Amino acid sequence: MDIVTRPRILVVGAGFAGVGCVRRLERRLAPDEASVTLVTPYSYQLYLPLLPQVASGVLTPQSIALSLRRSRKYRTRIIPGGAIGVDLKAKVCVIRTITDEIVNEQYDYIVLAPGSVTRTFDIPGLVDNAFGMKTLAEAAYIRDHVISQLDLADASHDPGERTSRLQFVVVGGGYAGTETAACLQRLTHSAVKRYPRLDPRLIRWHLIDIAPKLMPELGEKLGRSAQEVLRRRGIEVSLGVSIKQAGPHEVTFTDGRVVPTRTLIWTAGVVASPLIATLGAETVRGRLAVTAEMNLPGNDGVFAVGDAAAVPDQAKGEEGAICPPTAQHAMRQGKRVADNVIATLRNQPMQPYVHKDLGLVVDLGGRDAVSKPLGVELHGLPAQAVARGYHWGALRTNVAKTRVMTNWLLNAVAGDDFVRTGFQARRPAKLKDSEYTDSYLTPEQVRAHVEGAGPAQG
Ligand SMILES: Cc1cc2nc3c(=O)[nH]c(=O)nc-3n(C[C@H](O)[C@H](O)[C@H](O)COP(=O)(O)OP(=O)(O)OC[C@H]3O[C@@H](n4cnc5c(N)ncnc54)[C@H](O)[C@@H]3O)c2cc1C
Repeated sequence: MDIVTRPRILVVGAGFAGVGCVRRLERRLAPDEASVTLVTPYSYQLYLPLLPQVASGVLTPQSIALSLRRSRKYRTRIIPGGAIGVDLKAKVCVIRTITDEIVNEQYDYIVLAPGSVTRTFDIPGLVDNAFGMKTLAEAAYIRDHVISQLDLADASHDPGERTSRLQFVVVGGGYAGTETAACLQRLTHSAVKRYPRLDPRLIRWHLIDIAPKLMPELGEKLGRSAQEVLRRRGIEVSLGVSIKQAGPHEVTFTDGRVVPTRTLIWTAGVVASPLIATLGAETVRGRLAVTAEMNLPGNDGVFAVGDAAAVPDQAKGEEGAICPPTAQHAMRQGKRVADNVIATLRNQPMQPYVHKDLGLVVDLGGRDAVSKPLGVELHGLPAQAVARGYHWGALRTNVAKTRVMTNWLLNAVAGDDFVRTGFQARRPAKLKDSEYTDSYLTPEQVRAHVEGAGPAQG
């Protein structure tokens, strides 16, 4: 068959869902059945659940950045860039490459898997002063930033400056925020022994959330157990509280407290990638409304998965329930959507996505963890073994598995290290600088761009 006439499958985003989909397509489709193209700003898949361990230095950044070019069946064309709009009528995806060129990519089938961005609110000073915990750069930056606070506090003669540099605030009591606070507190706790001039009692970590409970998915008993571990470690947990105002040197809580700090880490939830809004299609709380087969109603060949899509949660059996934004679902949806794309190509029926949640694992650093695999409640070392075993097994490549295991062993034997690399010292790295949420087009701009650009590439 002439390769020019092959149907074109375009996958947007190389996260859990996108890579799951591409790998399955490479395995199950003959090369002459369709061409597969992937749009992604980075050349790796980021294993996000282990990001807090990069921030605390237990893992090196490379160990959770899984190369996209390592699969033996690898044959996908990768476009280095980000999709900034999709014209469903013209079947064109508008892409901004990493060199800032705008290109149009024509498709016959599109799988949207751009994930999510940090959810922010209209809180004065928030996006200018808070750090996020969604990208590898943010994790590496936060690590350097936290260590630099210890260095600067150690060098300072000003008690006020010392106090503010040694207080840290994490907002968001989900697993991302709880693990971030727990892992970084461990880092400062071990590091301070190397700073004889610093009073360890001045180091204070705050974990706050507007909800009345930490990680409600854990249930009453385990949630309390996690909170107990944090309290024992000196992390001040405040529930029913959020941020009223954020400044460069202090943060005001909604209960009126003013905390002097130079470190505000914001992990209070996620929203679907702004790419979804460029489609002008129906959404459910910002996520693209798709069927259980993960396709967009009324648009044959358009699919969406992962954090960006509102996929009905059929295993829950409740009317209107949608899958939570977790790696567990994204990975499996990616594989199933690949099967459905192939089924459509071959004129076969599609299958719905059904997956019963396997539970939750929360690594609090060291020997501390809480896990609820298949409803069994665990804490301490058994929970830690399950948490690490789960993540280790879920890493896609053997190289990543080896790197992560080696790092864990090294950390267990040699302890934490407190090197501040300084690579990003003068780079802006706050929420507004990290997620490029302002680079997307409006649906009207997409249409105008596609119509004005003449025939698209493909
Ligand atoms: C700190 C942290 C800890 C977590 N811990 C857990 C956990 O323990 N268990 C769990 O199940 N889940 C966890 N999650 C959630 C989980 O990581 C997400 O639900 C999962 O990554 C969603 O997969 P996805 O493929 O939809 O998106 P992602 O994995 O985020 O991938 C999206 C990809 O698309 C790319 N992209 C974004 N925009 C564009 C664009 N416009 N064009 C092209 N590419 C684009 C991104 O660079 C990224 O590579 C955690 C998340 C965080 C942040």
